[in-house]
This record gives sequence, C-alpha cells and structure tokens, in this order.
Amino acid sequence: MNDAEPSTVFLDLDDTICEHPRSTADRLADAFDSAGVEPFFDVGDFRRWLANVSADTTLELRERCFTGIADEQNRDPDDALAVARAYEDPDPTTVEFLPGAESALETLGARYDLALVTNGDRETQTAKLATLDIADRFDAATFTEPGGPVKPDPDHFHRTLSAMGVSADEAVHVGNSLRADVAGAHAAGVASVWLEQSSATADPSPHYTIDSMHDLHEPPWA
Ligand SMILES: [Mg+2]
Repeated sequence: MNDAEPSTVFLDLDDTICEHPRSTADRLADAFDSAGVEPFFDVGDFRRWLANVSADTTLELRERCFTGIADEQNRDPDDALAVARAYEDPDPTTVEFLPGAESALETLGARYDLALVTNGDRETQTAKLATLDIADRFDAATFTEPGGPVKPDPDHFHRTLSAMGVSADEAVHVGNSLRADVAGAHAAGVASVWLEQSSATADPSPHYTIDSMHDLHEPPWA
C-alpha cells in the first residue's frame, strides 16, 4: 500500500453490493426439511465453516462445510450430503442492493475505474449484474471459472489488475469477507476495505473498515 490515491476500485459482489431477500437461515431450514433430516446445525455453523473452506462450485462448498460440521458432531456424513444437495441455490434474478451500494457505485464510478472481483461463476453473477442493471459500471469483471482460482488466491486479483492495466498499489479492494476479500487483496499487494458484517475481531486486519456501503461516498482511503 502506498500513500498515493488509487485510480481503481475493485469490488466484491455478494453481500458487498447485493444480497438475496430470502435469508441463508431460511434456505437452510428448507433444506433440512426437504432432505428429511433433523436440523443439527444452524447458519452460524455454516458461516463459520464457509470462512475456512474453498471449492469450485457452491454445491461442493456446501458439501465440505456440512460434512465438516457433521464430523464435529459425530453425525452421519450422508445426512450432511443430503442437506447440501437439498439446499436450493438462491435465484440470481431476485438480488437486491445492500443499503448504500447503488449510490456508492455511482459516486465511485465518477472518480475511479471500477472492477468486479467475485468468487461466483460467470453465468450466475452476470444474471445478478443484469438484474441490478450495473454491468456497465465495471471496466473488468473477474469470475471464478471451473477449476480456476477463487479468492483469497491472489491470482484472482492479479488477473483483475492485468485486465485493468494497473499495478497493485494503484488499486483498493472492497469486500465483506475477511478471508476471501481482505486476505486475498493483501496476498496480491492490494489495499483492503472491509465491509464489516459482524463484530468479530478482524483477522487479517484490513487497511480500512466501513460499516455500510454508504461510507464509500467519502472513500476512507481518499
Ligand atoms: Mg462477498
């Protein structure tokens, strides 16, 4: 990180710019129900595991999280797999902006070049961008391709830097995940802005922390 103002702002998509109206807890309850498995963990366990697991697909990610939780609790891994498969991926065309995100994109876009850095796949994330009508706000978008890197792999950021034609010290990255966004940005030498979503101790420690996307109207790095 240097002291010069960045030219380029990278942004995560899920739970940074947009979210689903139906909560993860609701979808998890539905999944237990349709798998016919007595609920043996909650969304807090799911989030705790999500913070430590990577996978190429959302199904694989859920399978790893849920079987990990089952293992912790001496439960049948087959039950965990059944719940992982019954869990319905949210409909990308129902996403909504997080508070302040739409106007933050407007404000930032007038002053910086913007790029999207998301762990979602191209098809799903493109559908969300179309729903929100913001695809043209970004000069580059890095998705997760099958078998390709996911944040916090610095390759995800390196690809975006190269697509934007800038060096790491010219960019800042804004995201909600300490593991994927903050650690990933740091691994690529990019300054981090963490959208704080819990009062957990921030590890790794972000360069900047914001409470809401409204805070980006006065960028913390400027
Ligand atoms: Mg996110």
